[in-house]
Amino acid sequence: MRQSVATMIAATAVLGVSASAPAQFSRPSRQQQIQLGKQAAQEIRQKERVLPSSDPRVQTLRRVGRRLLSTVNDRNDPWEYSFDVIDSPQLNAFALPGGPTFFYTGLLNKMRSEDELAAVLGHELAHVRREHWAYQYRDQSQRNALLTLGAIIFRPSRTVLQGAGLLSTLTDLKYSRKHETESDDQGYDMMVRAGYNPQGMVDVFTMLAQNARGGRPPEFLSSHPADANRIRRIQEKMRRSGQRFPSLRPMNY
Ligand SMILES: [Zn+2]
Repeated sequence: MRQSVATMIAATAVLGVSASAPAQFSRPSRQQQIQLGKQAAQEIRQKERVLPSSDPRVQTLRRVGRRLLSTVNDRNDPWEYSFDVIDSPQLNAFALPGGPTFFYTGLLNKMRSEDELAAVLGHELAHVRREHWAYQYRDQSQRNALLTLGAIIFRPSRTVLQGAGLLSTLTDLKYSRKHETESDDQGYDMMVRAGYNPQGMVDVFTMLAQNARGGRPPEFLSSHPADANRIRRIQEKMRRSGQRFPSLRPMNY
């Protein structure tokens, strides 16, 4: 049975009364994450130029997504994934809580191999599966940094949610270094199991770092803090594994 987000949140608020932390400081449930992500995804589909399913870039993204997820094979996986492409020059990609994932054409156009796409997608799927957004939300609201967001999520009326721009409140949260490393590791494992070459992860982060020199850093790096060690860590993992990896697959659109 699917409860409305309002019912879920009211239930959380009631449960929170006797707890030490107020309800808005606790980690949003899986169901809440899914509802919030879906709502924000709808906002994106209304506001942005989302490419049709017939576009080869959308088809490639969905094919790589299916391939990565087939390595997980978790029957109890609660998440509701979707994969879409926004027609915009930003160097960015993100996954909303609960599973909806968006790539920008700006980033896709810079990728030279499917392995680079699998790297970013695997990384983003790890954020979803490890519920990083919900943990960041909890930690930041405990620091009183996001009282407004707490008010939005835990006192939901449709007009409040829409008026505040749910999307920007969801995507304004920055992931911590710890979560970034965790997502790199899980994304790496997923792509290797799916038959991709993790050199794609090295290549895509190198490309992003090169684009950060000089002007404004790519949007992806502003929500996913990275440092110089990140690329070295992945190269070290590849060396230590002693594995031979398949050739990179050139992007074919
Ligand atoms: Zn990240």
